[in-house]
Amino acid sequence: MNKLFRSAVIAGNWKMNKTPAEATELINAIKAECAGKATDGCTVVACVPYVDIANAVEAAKGSFIHIGAENVHWERSGAFTGEISADMLVACGVEYVIVGHSERRQYFGETDETVNKRVHAALEAGLKVILCVGELLTEREQGVTAEVVSRQTKIALLGVTEEQLKNVIIAYEPVWAIGTGRTATADQANEVCKLIREVVSSLYGTAAGNGITVQYGGSMNAKNAAELLAKEHVDGGLIGGASLKAPDFSVIISAAQ
Ligand code: PEP
Repeated sequence: MNKLFRSAVIAGNWKMNKTPAEATELINAIKAECAGKATDGCTVVACVPYVDIANAVEAAKGSFIHIGAENVHWERSGAFTGEISADMLVACGVEYVIVGHSERRQYFGETDETVNKRVHAALEAGLKVILCVGELLTEREQGVTAEVVSRQTKIALLGVTEEQLKNVIIAYEPVWAIGTGRTATADQANEVCKLIREVVSSLYGTAAGNGITVQYGGSMNAKNAAELLAKEHVDGGLIGGASLKAPDFSVIISAAQ
């Protein structure tokens, strides 16, 4: 399938930034920056901290911006102090959730198994999942990028049905490129996004592999977005730092049109 037939998704990951009042300001600023420009060539998502969700949902109402969360617990309720369930997110107007971000894997003990549990909880509650996979710098240097990314993808998708897969976006995020200013080259990004597509094809068939949205994430910015997004297997971006600056995020949205 030609990339023109796949949905392009540009998603911001705000990480631990912005108070609720600042979230309202940033969503309004993104709307203002994009006013009069095309936005319908891609889906635009802002994944925000839990405490910002209410304000972000309110500010985004009626606009082209969809709101996502940055994580979700796998249980529906119970004694899990500090955690948030998928049902809670849905009740707040959240449509998307990031699962398996490398910062969760690196600092909060996230494993392929817990990623898989979160994917199931999110999909069962009706959320769309942005599933993050990606290799460490040492793994790239050791030549095991394909093995690492394949393993992460396969385990995350264990038990996910073909129907549910329609609500999964995969973000290829090389860990060495996240927040470092060091971007994968467009060819490196394309190569691994293609590999992820092949893994999905091997699990669900060619149509599913060809149809799934695969994003690149890792220091994507207003300058390099167009080159990355032009690649055949790169269907969008997961953007950290540059998603906090409305003018830059708007340039990236335009590059995806
Ligand atoms: C991210 O947080 O997913 C990310 C890609 O961050 P940055 O764009 O800042 O590298």
